Amino acid sequence: MKRIAVGQLLQETNTLNPLQTQRRHFEIYGLGQGEAVMGRYGDTEELSGFASLPQVLGEKVEWLGLLRARAWSGGVLVPGLLGELVEAFTAPLRGQQVDGVLLSLHGAQAAAEDPDVSGCLLHSLSQALGPQVPLVATLDLHANLTRRMVQSADVLIGYHTFPHIDQVSCGQRGARALAHLLRTSERPQVSAWKMPLLTNSDGRTTDRGVLASLWKELVAAEARADVLSTAVYMAQPWLDVPELGWTLYQAYLGERPPLDPEAVAQACWQTRAHRQTPFLRPAELVPAALKIAGRPVAVSESHDATNSGAPGDSTLLLEALTETAIPEGGALTFCVDPLSVAQCFRAGVSALLSLQVGGRIDPYSRPLPLRARVRYLGRVAYTLSGHGGHNLPVDMGRAAVVSAGDVTVVLVEETGPGSSPRLYEAVGLDPRDFKIVIAKSPEGFRQDYEPFAAGILYCGAPGCATPYLLEAGFRSASRPLYPLDQIDEMSQAPWAGELIR
Ligand SMILES: [Zn+2]
Repeated sequence: MKRIAVGQLLQETNTLNPLQTQRRHFEIYGLGQGEAVMGRYGDTEELSGFASLPQVLGEKVEWLGLLRARAWSGGVLVPGLLGELVEAFTAPLRGQQVDGVLLSLHGAQAAAEDPDVSGCLLHSLSQALGPQVPLVATLDLHANLTRRMVQSADVLIGYHTFPHIDQVSCGQRGARALAHLLRTSERPQVSAWKMPLLTNSDGRTTDRGVLASLWKELVAAEARADVLSTAVYMAQPWLDVPELGWTLYQAYLGERPPLDPEAVAQACWQTRAHRQTPFLRPAELVPAALKIAGRPVAVSESHDATNSGAPGDSTLLLEALTETAIPEGGALTFCVDPLSVAQCFRAGVSALLSLQVGGRIDPYSRPLPLRARVRYLGRVAYTLSGHGGHNLPVDMGRAAVVSAGDVTVVLVEETGPGSSPRLYEAVGLDPRDFKIVIAKSPEGFRQDYEPFAAGILYCGAPGCATPYLLEAGFRSASRPLYPLDQIDEMSQAPWAGELIR
């Protein structure tokens, strides 16, 4: 019987979003301690993959639950919250013996006091446990690996898919790596190669596009018996922190990493100018959608993607939608706006209201005056599986469906997944009935919408998740960094290259 400490601290941070993440944002998704970590949340996301550990190990496992803290993508953790979370993770370990640790982290998470939440937690746990206890952590493919993260964990395991549909198998791969360390007491070598490279997700999916063949190589390399982990972490780009950039990470048991780090880094670097997505400005969007036969046309409102941590209340595209007639069912979108939701609930179904919608958190747009009729009052709550979650209970609070001309807006109280049609279905709307449907997701929405969409379009504008990275105003990122600086060779960035273990 092995005793394994287990936990999850998972949220993607967008440092441009001025709304800081508070404890209540984690409470919405459920804070679990002790037995609740695996007892209550053991069939969600990476934790459900961790549950395979006894099977892979061939031995019973006693779980010591530390903390399960999950929140939707958003702003930096409010001052004081990081300390509370780290204390909640480390306190249960005092005076306890454990054989190993399995953690589910994001890897691109920042707090007011520390730009590297994942590194801070890994470091605190490795200090609390000592070097003899193996520590394995899983990460999102958009993690920003730091020197501290690489040094503090024995093995880091990343998603192999974008759109993200491998949360469970990622957890299983984490369990496989920890099982190996527990069985053999062997410690792997680690190679982590930092690239001074930042891209939005344009053409960087794993199933198609410019990196698809590289991902096949990475996945095949990790399947080798002497390899515990391989991944390219493509870094959440709206994260203005030091050491921001892509990282190739490999954990292996032999003399050399399975893939030549410099060669793979060069292959990634060669794609730096790659663009394949024509981003339309809001004013261009409706005319382009109307040219596509059939419905719905699924549209990425990339600059306000709640999946990238933007607030979900930009009005730049909403305004453009209201300015044009949209036949064949009109447009369907959503907006995070608790004030307007409250106003609709006070007025009741069928009321005609003058609302000031959205634009309160998003620094790039203003509240949009909208004369709208309340069609439905309810709640957006459902279980997310597919891109962005597995068996993840989502609650975006009370919801008011309002219509203004050809536009239907689902007003919600809280942010949440912007990639899933389930959001609309939760309030009785079928996205197939509309000509245009908005997803606040840069790319992962394809997973959910492509099976039934007549077309896919991408809209880009100023916003907390703008695809135009040069407009994002970076101040803290290590420089030089492409494309913020025009550099031709990676060697021009002395801060990048091999991270010392
Ligand atoms: Zn991601």
